[in-house]
Amino acid sequence: MRVLIADDTVLMRTMLSEQVASYGHDVILARDGREALNLAQAESFDIAIIDWEMPRLSGLEVCWLLKADPRTAYSYLILMTSHDEPFYEMKALDAGADDFIHKPVNRAHLKARLKAGGRITEMHRLLVAQAQTDPLTGVANRRALLDRAGEEIRRAQRARQPLSLLIADIDHFKRINDSRGHAAGDEALQRFVRTLDGALRPGDLIGRYGGEEFVVLLPNTALADASVVAERLRQRVASQEMGPDGDSFRMTASFGVAPVAPDAPGGIDDALRTADAALYRAKAEGRNRVVPSP
Ligand SMILES: [Mg+2]
Repeated sequence: MRVLIADDTVLMRTMLSEQVASYGHDVILARDGREALNLAQAESFDIAIIDWEMPRLSGLEVCWLLKADPRTAYSYLILMTSHDEPFYEMKALDAGADDFIHKPVNRAHLKARLKAGGRITEMHRLLVAQAQTDPLTGVANRRALLDRAGEEIRRAQRARQPLSLLIADIDHFKRINDSRGHAAGDEALQRFVRTLDGALRPGDLIGRYGGEEFVVLLPNTALADASVVAERLRQRVASQEMGPDGDSFRMTASFGVAPVAPDAPGGIDDALRTADAALYRAKAEGRNRVVPSP
């Protein structure tokens, strides 16, 4: 794990970091509350051990601020103080601390608390991964895809780079399900995603948008280049033999491609609508083709 340790005394920082590092964790050190907050927001960490009495920002304030920030709201915070009246423990939990430890810090206590915190952190990590992943194909689900799209739009704005997306839709997918059964349909979806994924560039992001519809975000790519990528994907899919030996079949897909305007008020939605209209045309014009938005 990565453990953030915030304390304003050198002795405490040294003691705690040596102990935490001896369990095999990486340590990030902060000398006061403000630095703890900055580091917590800039770097990823799993658990923070935060001293209550610190200059610039108290540990209590750091807890409040970290729990109020969506990026750090679920990180595991252990607040530390020499006060041992129940009132302080209550205030700590109320501020968003997940656990509380007394100074001087007992080594066995700290070890046990890190272990407990590690369990919670690990469970949270799994839940987040599950909530973002399409279970059948292993790619981003619709919600995760839309979240990532928002990030990519902001990145494109900052870097003044183009951003495009494509929608890929398997042709006559219902026929596969109807004639070969849903297990074959599921396998076809998995093969389809592997085929697309294997032909994408690092940085491209694929997600499942609907049943047999997948969206690929193409950072730093203008519409013309995005259409080239889509054409490459189309050819790969069309040349793949699907299904088991002796019962294999070919599959094709249609593609709609659209640029994402970085300053569009509708965000990604406008581009998705445009790509969907292009996809509709690809279907209407006979399928197994790429249509860029006009
Ligand atoms: Mg202190």
